[in-house]
Amino acid sequence: MKSLIFAYTINGKLTRSDMEIISHSRVISDDIHLITNMPLDVPIKGVKKILTPKGGINQDCFAKFIEMAFMKDDYSYIIGKSDIVGKEIASSLSAILDMEYVSDIQSLENNGKLIVKRDFFTGKLSGKIEIKSKSILLLKINTYPIKEMDSEPIIESLDFSCPSTKKLLSRNITSGNKPPLESAQIVVSGGRGLESKDNYAYVEKLADLLGAATGASRAIVDLGWVPQTYQVGQTGKIIAPNLYIAIGISGAVQHLAGIRNAKKIIAINKDPNAPIFKYADYGIVADFKDFLPVLIKKLEELKK
Ligand SMILES: Cc1cc2nc3c(=O)[nH]c(=O)nc-3n(C[C@H](O)[C@H](O)[C@H](O)COP(=O)(O)OP(=O)(O)OC[C@H]3O[C@@H](n4cnc5c(N)ncnc54)[C@H](O)[C@@H]3O)c2cc1C
Repeated sequence: MKSLIFAYTINGKLTRSDMEIISHSRVISDDIHLITNMPLDVPIKGVKKILTPKGGINQDCFAKFIEMAFMKDDYSYIIGKSDIVGKEIASSLSAILDMEYVSDIQSLENNGKLIVKRDFFTGKLSGKIEIKSKSILLLKINTYPIKEMDSEPIIESLDFSCPSTKKLLSRNITSGNKPPLESAQIVVSGGRGLESKDNYAYVEKLADLLGAATGASRAIVDLGWVPQTYQVGQTGKIIAPNLYIAIGISGAVQHLAGIRNAKKIIAINKDPNAPIFKYADYGIVADFKDFLPVLIKKLEELKK
């Protein structure tokens, strides 16, 4: 059974999450082709073929390019990341190819039948589904180990033109020098307990010292303290960092839906009964204004 993995790259760079998905897809078989929206800056191992368009294409056209490749070969599955971009591309593909898609997959099992384990109701339940036909499968990010892979791929550069209705005029990296929120290993997030927009500077400072990405609860996005791209949760980004630090965040179910797969959670909250403490691995009952300056000073000393 052959799989076609799609990766929408910025400037032809694959991310750690792309490599995780390539590794985990080998549960189905080693017969994996990778398709990208532009030539890769560094070709990778572990797939049999890499398909790229000559020149880059935008997200609108990427689904059409995947369709073209899918129709030319005998693929059983199209596999991608279960993030915002992956879901947008999968929705288009599902309509174009009239194929079902399953998102938020936690793991693939192959015992002669392909079984996927996935979340339901924003992670309150999980269940297993048997995949019986050609399907689009979206795997959760930051969830699988990366395996050593040695097969050298053939690189195929395809002619493709697509009359896009939109033109990309500019792209701004809003995370600055910080790692992207979706794939960061450490994330520091702030909530309404920060009391003012200016106090978000504590989150930024701690994140800089830890090499972390910055996130937020919806409450402070709605207050206009940070852009929507920072939002973690059911209607924001679903993340799975090794460490998540929640500052002044109560722990509403919609927020927790975004961090269920975080490996360790540290919560800083002045209310000992805040719901977040039920989910946190470490809880610090303190006013952030007392605790963070001490922590930041200590980290600065350690960095010297
Ligand atoms: C359909 C729907 C979708 C939603 N999607 C999301 C989503 O994707 N993401 C999301 O985050 N929310 C989402 N929400 C909103 C969610 O229900 C909560 O309202 C929101 O998460 C609360 O944000 P918060 O924890 O920052 O604020 P609050 O609930 O107001 O909590 C603030 C916390 O800060 C603590 N605090 C106060 N002062 C201090 C201090 N000085 N030091 C330390 N701690 C302090 C308080 O004890 C409190 O626990 C959604 C809601 C709905 C209805």
